[in-house]
Amino acid sequence: MIKVSIITLGCKVNQVESEQIGDALENLGFSVSMGLSESDIYIINTCAVTNEAERKSRNIITKVLKLNKNASIYVCGCSSENNADNFKKCDNVKKIIGTKNKIQLVNVIKDDFISEIKPFEPKNCDNIIRVSERTRADLWVQNGCNNFCTYCLIPYLRGREISFPLENVKKELSRLEKIASEIVITGINLSAYGKDLSDKNDGLIEIARLFRNSPSRFRFSSLEVNIISDEFLKELSSFDNFCEQFHLSLQSGSNNTLKSMNRHYTKEDYLEKVNLIRKYFPNAGITTDIIIGFPTESEEDFEESLEFVKTVNFSEMHIFPYSKINGTVAEKFKMIAKNIPERVKKMTEIALKNKYDFINNNIGITHEVIIENQKNGYYLAHTKNFILCYIKSNETLKPNSKYNVKILSNFEDGAFAEIIK
Ligand code: SF4
Repeated sequence: MIKVSIITLGCKVNQVESEQIGDALENLGFSVSMGLSESDIYIINTCAVTNEAERKSRNIITKVLKLNKNASIYVCGCSSENNADNFKKCDNVKKIIGTKNKIQLVNVIKDDFISEIKPFEPKNCDNIIRVSERTRADLWVQNGCNNFCTYCLIPYLRGREISFPLENVKKELSRLEKIASEIVITGINLSAYGKDLSDKNDGLIEIARLFRNSPSRFRFSSLEVNIISDEFLKELSSFDNFCEQFHLSLQSGSNNTLKSMNRHYTKEDYLEKVNLIRKYFPNAGITTDIIIGFPTESEEDFEESLEFVKTVNFSEMHIFPYSKINGTVAEKFKMIAKNIPERVKKMTEIALKNKYDFINNNIGITHEVIIENQKNGYYLAHTKNFILCYIKSNETLKPNSKYNVKILSNFEDGAFAEIIK
């Protein structure tokens, strides 16, 4: 059997697309594995979110050739859309396909390897997900972005916002809920869901409504603050299976920096939305991404950002030192930000303290978790508000099954918890 390895870098949407390609190839009779392993064919689904991500994407080819010097390599994704020439120079690369029509790789590979089988017909958001039980699966509902943040190339690489029709999403959900206990609603700019659909619709909440009688619990991937409103939160609070975690991209807590990033809110708008979330979900996990050392971020801007982060009290933060990306508007900004490693250190200290406090505030509270895997004698599982729990249990706990736990203390990078009968 011909072996295919699919290596995925970057965002959740890339992961979903890799799954779709993998499933289609498996249906054609290829043996598919995710990640770098010895194979005949390699698909590298690349990322261009930073110059570092682009470098990593190219390095994978070197690793592949060490494993199999005769490998056939196919490259897709944002880095190949942005810089196809970088990959053309690499040995054994047979095709570079960019971002727009990745699923076409299935037919390209089929033609290169087994021409006698019937063609695969790609359908929008209507592909087959690998049928194996899992804790979490991504429901991809939207592609593209119209926001044009000055540090990001995504609107140029993936194109403008497109929402997948509700009927297609519904079909995909009915497949996913048979195999996954938790579903993450995913998109490039998820908050824009529905804006481009011709049928009258209520936007992203329409997707949440599909979960009304679902056996799976659900959460959103990343949201923009503009989606948060009384109506949105009120309706979400009526679901028993909604996971009260809101990943709200902040990027900076300084109004000057937000403006030069072309983010469409101020820190005051952001805080108002956080307070609204806490009105409906007092114990919500509020998580975020933040960029440190954006070119225009002065010392004062950074201090303002630091203070703002303390005020919000995030349960978890992903902190990224700014990385220049060729072709962005920000590439041309004069670099005035200094002492970036020191700033990252200061921000990380706040993030760790806030996370510790959030977990402390959850001690003694009962949470529903779904068992994911085991590590060093502990079962690992996440609560609905996204606390990673380490659970000791004398009885065997079933993977992908729901249990109630009580949080006992901070532990490792999460919490220590016990099963409640
Ligand atoms: S919202 Fe901004 S950072 Fe996110 S994909 Fe769109 S342009 Fe890029």
